[in-house]
Amino acid sequence: MSAPRIEIDLGKIRHNALRLIEQLSSRGISITGVTKAFLGSPEIANTLLQTGIHSLGDSRIENVDTMRRANVNATMTLIRSPMLSQVERVVALVDVSFNTELNVIRGLSNAAGKIGCEHSVVLIIELGDLREGIMPNDLESIVREVLTMPNIQLKGIGTNLACRSGVSPNTDNMTELSDLANTVERTFDISLDIISGGNSGNLQWALSGIDTGRINNLRLGESLLLGCEPLQRQTIAGLYTDAFTLVAEVIESKIKPAQPWGELAQTAFGESALPPSKKKGLITQTILAIGLQDIDPTGLQASDGIEILDASSDHLIIDAGCKLPIGTEIRLQLNYASLVRAMTSPFVTRVYSNSKSHNAA
Ligand SMILES: *Cc1c(COP(=O)(O)O)cnc(C)c1O
Repeated sequence: MSAPRIEIDLGKIRHNALRLIEQLSSRGISITGVTKAFLGSPEIANTLLQTGIHSLGDSRIENVDTMRRANVNATMTLIRSPMLSQVERVVALVDVSFNTELNVIRGLSNAAGKIGCEHSVVLIIELGDLREGIMPNDLESIVREVLTMPNIQLKGIGTNLACRSGVSPNTDNMTELSDLANTVERTFDISLDIISGGNSGNLQWALSGIDTGRINNLRLGESLLLGCEPLQRQTIAGLYTDAFTLVAEVIESKIKPAQPWGELAQTAFGESALPPSKKKGLITQTILAIGLQDIDPTGLQASDGIEILDASSDHLIIDAGCKLPIGTEIRLQLNYASLVRAMTSPFVTRVYSNSKSHNAA
């Protein structure tokens, strides 16, 4: 089989989705499956849809395009504010978009009018993480304006935490979102379908047994795919963390000094992402044919006894404790950042398998 490749076990993704649906549906919370980490791969998208998820979200319109072309049949949400330059494409391809700027919503309204369709928007509220969002005090005036726009449906409100600053979802900010939903509904005598509380970082809060208020939707990527929550990067009980495995091939394996010699200047990519090796004497250094262009070396985990030492653009340097035959395949687990980069690299092929049944991990 060709290397490097990413082996994707659809059965494990299906299992993770079913478990999360089971836990969240009893709290009245639906899942929007977030497809950006796998670039809208139709195989994975369809796997999610087979579990009963019927809404998919992506931050990039290109990924939605990929899924539409493959006839992936879901409600599609653009979960990053549309670019003003892309509003035509957005209304043509997605059902719902997340928005924070009136000028963009006006653009969507015009674009929807031109093709005679309605476009739904969810207004995203800033609740402290300082990424995207309308300041809570501005919400009322923005809603008032949006409700006057033709071809635009106000579908709901939402927020996004735990991304830029790592602000955790908790009773305070989630209650504030619920209260804002109630206020908007009362003030304008409308009802909001979607109150989208956040991403995988909301799971601890949502499953803690606490009153989840008006929150009726979460947008999940990392937890579905990697069985992991992003606040402490803990495994979620009962989920698989190894649905994705990266396989790379050994192209050199030699006994070499652990430390470089000669006069040291900058490396090709500036500072190395990994701390410099403290090893002394001689080691068996092995090179895999994959590099920074395809992965984030800090987000890779090899099996026991293999240490990841460093990476340059096309080489991943490891110490396996012994010389490895040239051509050996090494299997690595990936975190979310490395997964995104590997899925994005045109040099990493994808191989799907579909194990039918899996017991809880
Ligand atoms: C990426 C993203 C998500 C999914 O986040 P995960 O931590 O992978 O669950 C949800 N919402 C928005 C707005 C995002 O950009």
